[in-house]
Amino acid sequence: MMNILVTGGAGYIGSHACKALAEAGYLPVAYDNMEYGHKWATQWGPLEIGDILDHNRLVEVMDRYDPKAVMHFAAYTYVGESVENPGKYYRNNVAGSLTLLEAMQNRSIQKIIFSSTCATYGIPQCIPLAEDHGQFPISPYGKSKFMIEQMLKDFDEAHGIKFVGLRYFNAAGADPDAEIGEDHNPETHLIPLVLDAAMGKSEGIKIFGTDYDTPDGTCIRDYIHVTDLADAHVKALGYLVKEGKSDFFNLGNGSGFSVREVIENAEKTTQQKIPVIEWQRRPGDPAVLIGSSEKALKILNWQPKYNNLETIIGTAWKWKNKG
Ligand code: UDP
Repeated sequence: MMNILVTGGAGYIGSHACKALAEAGYLPVAYDNMEYGHKWATQWGPLEIGDILDHNRLVEVMDRYDPKAVMHFAAYTYVGESVENPGKYYRNNVAGSLTLLEAMQNRSIQKIIFSSTCATYGIPQCIPLAEDHGQFPISPYGKSKFMIEQMLKDFDEAHGIKFVGLRYFNAAGADPDAEIGEDHNPETHLIPLVLDAAMGKSEGIKIFGTDYDTPDGTCIRDYIHVTDLADAHVKALGYLVKEGKSDFFNLGNGSGFSVREVIENAEKTTQQKIPVIEWQRRPGDPAVLIGSSEKALKILNWQPKYNNLETIIGTAWKWKNKG
C-alpha cells in the first residue's frame, strides 16, 4: 500500500481527500497541528500531530511512513484576516510550505499535490476563468498561495519535485455519507452560514452587497463539491505517479449561482424560511467568479459528480443535522 502524507488532513478538504485516498487503496497519513483540525475527521489512517513550520517533525514523520507523495492542504484561509494580519499568512502559508518542500527535498519525496485557489487570479478580466488568465491576487491570502505556486515551479526546476497545483473555486458540501463535513470556527462561508440561519442559530443571513452588476444584484460563485475536489486530488496523484508533467488545474463546476439563488435553494432543501439581512459589500469580492475546468476534465480525466446546487446544499444539510 502506498503511503501519502496529507498536511491539513484533519481539516475540511484534507479529511475528504483522506477518505478518497483510502477508498482508492492508499494509506493517508494526516499531518495536522490541530489548530483548526478535528480528531473525528481523521478516520482513514494515522494522525500525526505536527506543524508544517517544524522541519524536524516533518522529517521524523516522513521517516516513519516513507510517503511516496504529499498532499498539501495545511494553510490559513481567511481572506479578511489575511488583510489585517498578513504576517500570519506569509509565515504559515509561505514559510510553512517552504519548510515542507525542504523536508521533501531532504527525504527525496518527489511528488506534491498542492491546494491552491482561484484567489490567485485576483479580479477576473474574463469569465470563465481559465488557467492562463493572468494572476494578480489582491489579498495576502491569495498572494501567499501564488507565492507557493512559484516555489513549486522552482523546486521542480532545481530538484525535480513534480507538482500538481489545484486552484479551487468555492469548496462546499459534505461527504455524502455524512461521516465528515465542514466545521470551521469561525465560520465565514456562505452555505454553512445559510444553513445555520435555517436552523435558527443566527438572526438571518447577511447578503454582502445587493448592487453588483449581476442579474439579481448579488455575487455569483462557482460552488464545487468537496468530494469532487477530493476525487480530483486522487486523480492528480495517479497522474503524477504515471509521470505526468507538473501543472496547474482549475477545479470548479463551470456554472455560477448568486447569493440569492443559494438562499432560495437552501429554503427548498431545509423547508425553512431563511431571514435575509441586506448588508454592505465585503471588500475584495469580485461580482462573478466562474472557472473553466476543461483542462482538468481533459488531462486528469476528472468529472464532478455532485455538480448541482441541490446536492451540494443537500449533503451539507445532512451533515449539519447529524450531530
Ligand atoms: N457571502 C454573503 N454572506 C455571508 C458570507 C458570504 O453574502 O455571510 C457571499 C460573499 O460575499 C461571496 C459568496 O457569498 O459573494 C461566497 O462567499 P464565501 O465566503 O462562502 O466564499 P469566497 O467566495 O469568499 O471564497
